[in-house]
Amino acid sequence: MIASTPCNVCGNEEADRESINPFNTSFQIKCPRCGEFEITEECIDWIGTKKTYNMNRHLISGWIRNHSITTPPLLMSTNLEEIVRQAPKSPIEKANILLAYLNKKTSYFGEEIRIEWKNDYSICYSTNDTELFRLMEHLEEEGHVKKISGVMGSSSYHVTSLGFNKYEQSLKETETSMQCFVAMWFDVCMAPARDNGLIPAIKDAGFYPLVIDQKEHNDKICEQILLEIKKSKFIVADVTGSRGGVYFEAGYAMALGKEVIWTCEENDFKDVHFDTRQYNHIVWKTPEALREKLFNRILGTIGRGNVKIERKES
Ligand SMILES: [Zn+2]
Repeated sequence: MIASTPCNVCGNEEADRESINPFNTSFQIKCPRCGEFEITEECIDWIGTKKTYNMNRHLISGWIRNHSITTPPLLMSTNLEEIVRQAPKSPIEKANILLAYLNKKTSYFGEEIRIEWKNDYSICYSTNDTELFRLMEHLEEEGHVKKISGVMGSSSYHVTSLGFNKYEQSLKETETSMQCFVAMWFDVCMAPARDNGLIPAIKDAGFYPLVIDQKEHNDKICEQILLEIKKSKFIVADVTGSRGGVYFEAGYAMALGKEVIWTCEENDFKDVHFDTRQYNHIVWKTPEALREKLFNRILGTIGRGNVKIERKES
C-alpha cells in the first residue's frame, strides 16, 4: 500500500512510502527531494536516532539524489557511515557537482534549466535552499551560468560556453569507467572467494570486475596491469596470502587517487602488512559473506554502477 508520509531521510512532507516486503522490514520511498530509493527499517531507525546521521540527513539525501539516476539505490545501515564520510563537503566540490548537473540536463545550447530551491538542494549535497542559492550565485559570478528568469520558489538558468568548457574539462579528469580491478593472490585456494565472493559482488553492484591472472605473467607487474588499474574506477585488494603484488597494485591505485577496498580472510588478517592495517578491511569467513559485505561496501563508497549486462569480450 502506498502512503503519503514525510521522507525518512530529508523530512520532505510530500513523499510516498510503500512496503516492499510483507514483514515491513524495507520500504520504497519516492521523495521529490531525494528521488526514489529503497531503505531498510534499521536504517530508518539509525537516521532517526544516531546523531552523526541525524545531523547529516542532507548528505544522505544528496547521495540518494545522485545515485537514483538509473536504478533506485538501496540504503542500509551498513552503508551509512561511508556515505556520510565520502560525501562532498566543500563549497567548491558542491559547485562542481551543481555545474555538472546543469550540463547533463542541457540538451541544446542555451536551454533553460529550472532550479526549484525547495527540492533541488539535494543535487549538490547542500544543507538547505540558502546554500543552493549561494552556490548558484557563485556559478553566475564565475561566468559558468546565466540567470534567465526567477519567480517565487524557483529560477531558470542556462549554461554558458565557459560553463560547458569547465564541465568538459572535469569530465576528462574524472574517471568515468565502470571497471573494477581485482588485486588478489592467484592460488587455487582462492578460487571460491574469487568466483563466489569478489566477482559476483562487483557485478551485483553494477561494475565490470577485471581479474588478470598473474600466473601468466610470472608474478611480475606488467604494463597491462598498470594500464588496467589506470582505466579502473576503483580497485578491490584482497590481501589474503599477503602477496607483494597485491600491495603494489593497491599502492599504485591509491597514488592515482583511486578508491581501494581492502578485504582479507579472517585467519589471515593477523598477517596483514603493518602499513596497510590502518585501512578498514572487510574481514571475511566465507565467500558468501565476502560477497554480501563487499557489495554493501561498494554501494556505500563508490555507489551503484550502471552495468546491467555481461560485457561482450572483443
Ligand atoms: Zn527525501
